Amino acid sequence: MGTTHHDEASGRSEVDSLSGRLARIRNDIREATRAAGRMNEPELIVVTKFHPASLIRDLHELGERNFGESRHPEARDKVAELEALDGVTWHFIGQIQSKKARQIARYVDVIHSIDRIALVDALAPLADERENPIGAFAQLNLTSDDGRGGTSEDELLQLAEAINESPILTLRGVMAIAPLDESPERAFDRVARASERLETRFPGASERSMGMSGDFQAAIERGATHLRIGTAITGKRPLAT
Ligand SMILES: *Cc1c(COP(=O)(O)O)cnc(C)c1O
Repeated sequence: MGTTHHDEASGRSEVDSLSGRLARIRNDIREATRAAGRMNEPELIVVTKFHPASLIRDLHELGERNFGESRHPEARDKVAELEALDGVTWHFIGQIQSKKARQIARYVDVIHSIDRIALVDALAPLADERENPIGAFAQLNLTSDDGRGGTSEDELLQLAEAINESPILTLRGVMAIAPLDESPERAFDRVARASERLETRFPGASERSMGMSGDFQAAIERGATHLRIGTAITGKRPLAT
């Protein structure tokens, strides 16, 4: 039938467009939040690494305000180009070399990838140049591979202590990436337990940055407060590595 055919066709093109994918993810987040019996939805950070500034402009027009970037100077250039956009919060989510730390501290609002005390120390000298402190997540490494970003569960509290004492950082909570060889449910359970320990020591640091395109429902169930979602919204990254 003509009508059915039309509906199918428009449904398909909706999902294939940026606005369609975004609408679907927003809906999935809403449903997972309800299914988890939670009152508040986590904050959606759209991960725009490798994509041009124009994509961020489009997302902004669709109502998004939180964007995640993982590489300097790509991130710096986009922040500069999009300076005029209203109300944007820039989240840095990638590994940071100490020698780049001060440059990154000039333009980000939140860093999710604070993974070592040396990085906390490298950021400190920028305190006088900023009006507001940088929101900071201590990144937890859920693998046994030290090459991955993040600190071990044993050292998480020490790292949090350093962040808490930093003149330029405000400790917000813990961030983690689920390993490939573990179910996201188990991985995010571990994050939730680490987060509870952190909160016992630092009552304000209750936030949990976890959940990506493939596992955000499990993260919502385990109390994620910030989702970092890229490809499910943006489509494939142009230069994915
Ligand atoms: C790229 C990236 C994401 C987003 O991953 P998708 O699978 O595209 O949703 C989230 N967090 C970090 C740290 C990333 O580097």
